[in-house]
Parts: sequence; C-alpha cells; structure tokens
Amino acid sequence: MAGAGRRPYNFSAGPAAMPEAVLQRAASEMLDWHGSGMSVMEMSHRGKEFGAICAQAEADLRTLLAVPEHFHILFMQGGGLGENAIVPMNLSRGGQVDFVITGSWSAKSQKEAQRYCQAHVAASNADSNHTQLPAPSTWQLSADASYVHICSNETIHGVEFQELPDLATLGSQAPLVIDFSSHVASRPVDWRRVGLAFGGAQKNLGPAGLTLVIVRDDLLGHALEICPSAFNYRIVADNQSMYNTPPTWGIYIAGLTFQWLLGQTEGGLTGVAAMEQRNLAKAGLLYDFIDASAFYENKVSPDCRSRMNVPFFLRDESRNDAFLAGAREAGLLQLKGHKSVGGMRASIYNAMPLEGVQALVAYMREFERSHA
Ligand SMILES: *Cc1c(COP(=O)(O)O)cnc(C)c1O
Repeated sequence: MAGAGRRPYNFSAGPAAMPEAVLQRAASEMLDWHGSGMSVMEMSHRGKEFGAICAQAEADLRTLLAVPEHFHILFMQGGGLGENAIVPMNLSRGGQVDFVITGSWSAKSQKEAQRYCQAHVAASNADSNHTQLPAPSTWQLSADASYVHICSNETIHGVEFQELPDLATLGSQAPLVIDFSSHVASRPVDWRRVGLAFGGAQKNLGPAGLTLVIVRDDLLGHALEICPSAFNYRIVADNQSMYNTPPTWGIYIAGLTFQWLLGQTEGGLTGVAAMEQRNLAKAGLLYDFIDASAFYENKVSPDCRSRMNVPFFLRDESRNDAFLAGAREAGLLQLKGHKSVGGMRASIYNAMPLEGVQALVAYMREFERSHA
C-alpha cells in the first residue's frame, strides 16, 4: 500500500475516486450540518436546510457547466441505464430515434429503447471493435427522428467525441441526446448542439444514486402514457426535482464537488476549463508513454481517445496478474480492465491528480524494465 500520509491512487471506472477535500468536508459535516444538529442524510428533503443545499447545488452546476437558462436541471435516480428507458419514454413520442453505436453503453441504450420506439442504428463502429468513431458525415440519419442518441464518452472502450456533432449541418432537425456519464465536467459542453444530456454522478461528480438530466425546455411535456410519473421530466421539473424524495446525500456530495470544481484554477483558467487543461495533461502523459512503449498498447484511434478512460494491454498478457498485484503494492488501485475488453483500464477522472498519473507511469516503466 501507499506510504504514510497519502491515500492510494484509485483508477476505478466507477464508482470512482472523489476529491479528498470533498470527502474531508463531508466528514467534518457528517454529524452536524451547519449547526442544524442533523446529518444531511437525516433531514427532510422539504425542510429549509436541504432546500438550500439543493438550490445551491443546482445553481453551482449551472455555473460550472454554463447551462443556458432555457435548459432545466433535474436531479433524478435510476442511473444511466434507467435513462436508457426514461429518455425514450419522454422524448421519442413512440416514433423513430437514431442511435450512433460507439461502444457498450450506446449499444445498451439502443437495445433498451427498442421497447419504447423504433430504435434505428444510424452508424456503428462495431467493425473496428469500437476503436474508431464513425464520421458524422457517414451517419444514416432518419428524416423524422425524435432525437439522435450518442454516448459522448464510452467508458469501457475508451472512445470519446472530441467535438459534439452539429446535427443541423447533417440535415437533421432532431435534438441531440448525449450520455455524458463518464466525462461530465471534464470539459465544456457546447449546449447549442445538445437537446438533453444525462449522466450518473458516480464517475465524475459524487456517489452512486444521483442521476443528472439537463434538458431543453421545449422537450418537456411529451412523455408517453406509460411513463411513470416519477420519471416524467415535466413532472420532475415542475416539482424542482422533489416530486418524490430525491437522492439527498448524492445531491449534497455532488454539490460539494461542484464547489470544489468551481474553485480549481489552472493556467489562469477556472472550473471546467481548468479541469480540461489538467485532463489533457494527464491523458497526454499516459498515452504518450504507452505509445512510446513496445511493452504496452492502446488500440483506440488517436483522434478519439478518451481523456477519462484509458484501456491498455500488456502485449504479454501472461503478466497481467503480476502487473495488477505490483500496482496494488505501489498504491495504484482498480486498474483491471472491463471484462468485455480485458487488459487494463486507468480511469483518470477530475479527482485524479497529475501526480497519480505520474505515479502510474513510473510504475509501468519500472514494471516494463524488470519484465521486458
Ligand atoms: C456507468 C455508465 C452508465 C451506467 O450507469 P448506471 O448508473 O450503472 O446505470 C451508462 N452510461 C455510461 C457512459 C456509463 O459510463
């Protein structure tokens, strides 16, 4: 394990490492939040204390992601997979929806949506084993789709859109839906190109149990009859995310994370712009090392490599177990790759400092030296 004073670096894909300052703040407020005599978990969601926490979290998220006024921010439950059903129930109107398949998560979204709408596959990168992004100009978009779904960062395959598609220039009037679960707040969002963004909080924002939905106002109010009321965006929005009990703890911790993010600075930039610079530096360091090595390999096309999730392989896979055991010894946790891809995966979300990636690269270099 790591030496005294430092927690190990945690490369989990999710639930994932959180900023230590956020954990410490939550610990210090655990038994008595701001003199209320209660922990946040023990408060009524309708009381003034939690009301203040929730309103602050929403306002901070709006600032952090520069969410325009004509979008609603909803704090929901059900996770990314829940949204795979909730989005089509709210937006599809039972008609045709276009899906761009770029990895496991978008494939799951398309499969689930088939239960609620005609889920048309407009493009897929399956023939490249999900290592490339199909160019938007090649997408077979429908004339009358209710929306177009993409996963803007494929957590398992390590494929990220470096720019969101501009559907208008592709001849589609449909709103773009993005699953941004695993890179939310790691880079700015171009809201002019987005109709709805959703994501679970447990990758980059806080604990599991909170799901973010950021939705353009005109997309509310079209839910299918079968849509549960608690998952009807119009109802959730009209009730300020308190139609039923919201995930209060998750909102509180995510709120602390928003404040932490707003306070980050890098090269004269703040907030998400600062995080983007750090994430570029972290990912660049790791990919450059892997590319220069004959011992390790990343198979994703360089133009769409994820800044957040870096799958990599030892060319000699018989050394995988030794690599992981040595990593644990060195205080580098949860590097095992997803079972569907194999190998290793380093998830380097916002909470991972540059020093953590430097420690990983130093370990990888030493492992190569002693095993090559
Ligand atoms: C983790 C993840 C999900 C699944 O989220 P759950 O909270 O487990 O439902 C969906 N999409 C992406 C891109 C993810 O990374």
